[in-house]
Amino acid sequence: MANAVPENTHDLLAYIEEGPTPWHCVVETVERLERAGFVELSEDAAQWPLTPGLAGYVVRDAGSVVAFRMGGRAPSEAGFRIVGAHTDSPNLRLKSNPDVTSEGYALLGVQTYGGVLVSTWFDRDLGLAGRITLRTGAHPLQLETRLVRIDRPIGRIPSLAIHLNREIKEDGFKPNAQTHLPVVWGFDGADRPSLRAFLGSEMGVDPANILGWDLCLYDVQPPSVGGVHEDFIYAPRLDNQASCHAALLALLDGGASAPDTTAVITLFDHEEIGSRTSRGAAGSLTRDVLGRLAGGQHEDLTRAASRSAMISADMAHGVHPNYADRHEPNHKPMLNGGPVIKIHAGGRYATETETSAVFRGLCADLGVPTQEFINRSDLACGSTIGPIVASSLGIRTVDVGNAMWSMHSIREMAGSRDHDLMVRAMTGFLTWDQRF
Ligand code: ZN
Repeated sequence: MANAVPENTHDLLAYIEEGPTPWHCVVETVERLERAGFVELSEDAAQWPLTPGLAGYVVRDAGSVVAFRMGGRAPSEAGFRIVGAHTDSPNLRLKSNPDVTSEGYALLGVQTYGGVLVSTWFDRDLGLAGRITLRTGAHPLQLETRLVRIDRPIGRIPSLAIHLNREIKEDGFKPNAQTHLPVVWGFDGADRPSLRAFLGSEMGVDPANILGWDLCLYDVQPPSVGGVHEDFIYAPRLDNQASCHAALLALLDGGASAPDTTAVITLFDHEEIGSRTSRGAAGSLTRDVLGRLAGGQHEDLTRAASRSAMISADMAHGVHPNYADRHEPNHKPMLNGGPVIKIHAGGRYATETETSAVFRGLCADLGVPTQEFINRSDLACGSTIGPIVASSLGIRTVDVGNAMWSMHSIREMAGSRDHDLMVRAMTGFLTWDQRF
C-alpha cells in the first residue's frame, strides 16, 4: 500500500525538470512569481514603489533572485523574515574551445563546476543547456544573451569496461577530470560536428554571431518518485533546488496572512563555488535589496537586521544505511523524518541556541517533526550560505535542510514526504510576527 505522496513533492519534481541550469531555475521561479502577481523591480530604478503588501522581486545577472512581500510595518520596526537557498548545483560545463578529436571520434571538453561526484556522470544520457551571448547588429557591442536547452541525449561519457580496468577492484574508480571526462558526441571525419555550428543550427542564428556561452551538461532522465511504498524521490539538483522550491512555495503560501514582518526569499547562484561573485551570497545583493526595502538609510537596515531572522536552507546528510559509521552516532537524520537543524561549533553553520529553539518551536507548533545534524568530530564539515549572510548583515540565522543521499551526484535521492514538511515550516517562519 503506497503512502500518499504530497502534491508539493510532485510540484517539486516538475520545478526541477524545468531547471537544468541556475538560469533556467531562476526563469521558472520568476514565472511562478509573476503568475502570483509579483512585480519585477529593477536595481537601476531610482525609486521602488514600496507599500505594505507589495509583492516584488529582483533578478541579478540572471542567476540569483530575491523576492519579497512587504509587511504591514516598516522593516526597521518589524524586521525581515528571510529564507535563503542556492540555485546552482555541481555539474560539468563546456570549455570555451570544447571541440576535440581522439581516435576517430568527436568529443566535447568539459570543466567541473563545484564538487562534482564525477563517477556518477559516466553512462548517463546528457543534454545541453545554458545561455549564449550573440551579436545582434553591426556594432560589436550590440549583444543579446539567450537561454538555450537541447533536451535530448546529444552525448555521453562512456565508462571503461571492467575487462580493460581490472585494477578498479583494488584501487577504486578514480577518473581524471582532464582526460576521462570529455563527452563523446560523434565521429571525426567529413561530418565532424563543431559546437558553434551545432548551436547555430539549433538556435537558428549565424554561428559567426555566437560570441560565448555558459553551457551545462545535464541528465535528460526525468525525476521520479520511487521505492516500494513511494517513500523516495530520485532527481538531479535536489541540492539545492528543493530548498529554492520550498522557499518559493512558502512565500506564495504566506500571502493569505498579512503579518507586520516583511517576508523575503534569497535564491543565490554560485554557492557551489564559494559564493564570492557579483551575484553570490558573499556579494552585495542581499545588502543592496534589503537596504532599499528597509528605507535607504544605513540605520534603517541596521535596525531592521537587529529584528530579523533567517533560515539558511540547504540539503542535509541523512544517515546512509550502508555507511552508517560516517555519521555521529547521536545525530543521524532519517529521510522522511522532517527538517534537519544543522549545528557546528566551529561556525560552518550559522545555527545558534536561540535560532534553533525558534525553528524547533515553530515546527512543534505546526506539528512538523525536526531532527539535528552534527558532523563526526573527526570529519571536516561542509558549509553553506548561512554563515556568509549572518556575518555580513548581522542577522540571526538557523541552518536547516531536508535529509538526502547521493549529494552532488548527477541523480540524487531524498524522502518523498519531507518536502511538504519543509514548506510548512518555512511558511510558518515567513509569517512569524513575534519580536525576537
Ligand atoms: Zn547545497
